[in-house]
Amino acid sequence: MAAVGQPNVIGAQPFPAATQKRGQLRSVHGSRVPYAQADAGGTGDTRIGGSSPAAGPNARLEGMDTIALITGANKGIGFETARLLGGAGATVLVGARDEERGRRAQATLQGEGIDARFVPLDVTDEASVTAAAKWVDAEFGRLDVLVNNAGIAVADGGYLPSQTTMTALRRTFETNVFGIVAVTNAMLPLLGQAPAARIVNVSSGVGSLAWMSMPQGPMRDIVSVPYPASKSAVNMVTVMYAKQLRDTPIKVNAANPGYCATDLNRNTGFRTAAQGAEVVVHLATLPVDGPTGTLWGDLWPEAVGEGELPW
Ligand code: NAP
Repeated sequence: MAAVGQPNVIGAQPFPAATQKRGQLRSVHGSRVPYAQADAGGTGDTRIGGSSPAAGPNARLEGMDTIALITGANKGIGFETARLLGGAGATVLVGARDEERGRRAQATLQGEGIDARFVPLDVTDEASVTAAAKWVDAEFGRLDVLVNNAGIAVADGGYLPSQTTMTALRRTFETNVFGIVAVTNAMLPLLGQAPAARIVNVSSGVGSLAWMSMPQGPMRDIVSVPYPASKSAVNMVTVMYAKQLRDTPIKVNAANPGYCATDLNRNTGFRTAAQGAEVVVHLATLPVDGPTGTLWGDLWPEAVGEGELPW
């Protein structure tokens, strides 16, 4: 396992804490988000061109339980996403490939008063994905939020493109890309049963071709194939689902949590996992006229704050 991410440059920003109480899950927006102001229903700035046909602002979130599945929720950004969504009143389905780690996360969240349920889910295992969808169907009959968070960064050869092994490339894409497609397809019927579901694919700034190509940017020294290319693929996957679903109430967006200290990068990130999760929760709780088919999140290295990133 190798550390893959953005260079260690100090640039963390404070995020507003999620202050919603249980049973009052609403969108989590900062004032820097231009589309957050237009919260009055109707069509909004949906880059893909969807018309957001839903009943009214936050229709799905008012007065009903929100069922949210997070993959890879036993630690890191996924765990903090479960904690934030659960703390805001959602029932969180804690997807984890390892039962012990999943149950431990479930217990921690339940200890904080969160309605957390462990779901065995290895995103690379078709049978596991199918079984998870069946379980969600049997328990809830719908899914309001899907967070495709599970991800890995491996480099079992060298770091450079010329040193990339097919094993590292396949493993990375299997989890980071194919896993998203597998889980999303399995859950789509359930997402369609929700009034206005949200899908968040956890991507990364390192998947942005625009940012990676900046000659003088802080990413100029990141020269590697598996992880960055997998996140570029996640971005395209996001756009394609957003296009297919543009005439439905379902919104599909990619999140850039920023460089967060987690096991993925041997805890070298300068943001906390909770700060990264704020970005994810923002997209998971978009109002009816929020965007679909965007890459949104931490704007470093272009700027300080959160906003839409270039692909
Ligand atoms: P992390 O702490 O290593 O967590 C990764 C999670 O994914 C773990 O729960 C892990 O489970 C799970 N996972 C891995 N393979 C899986 C599989 N096949 N099926 C189900 N779950 C699997 O890393 P993180 O930083 O929180 O990463 C979360 C997401 O954020 C990833 O998509 C990552 O690419 C993205 N991201 C992270 C950063 C950052 O700076 N940390 C920046 C941008 C994007 P186990 O515990 O069983 O391994």
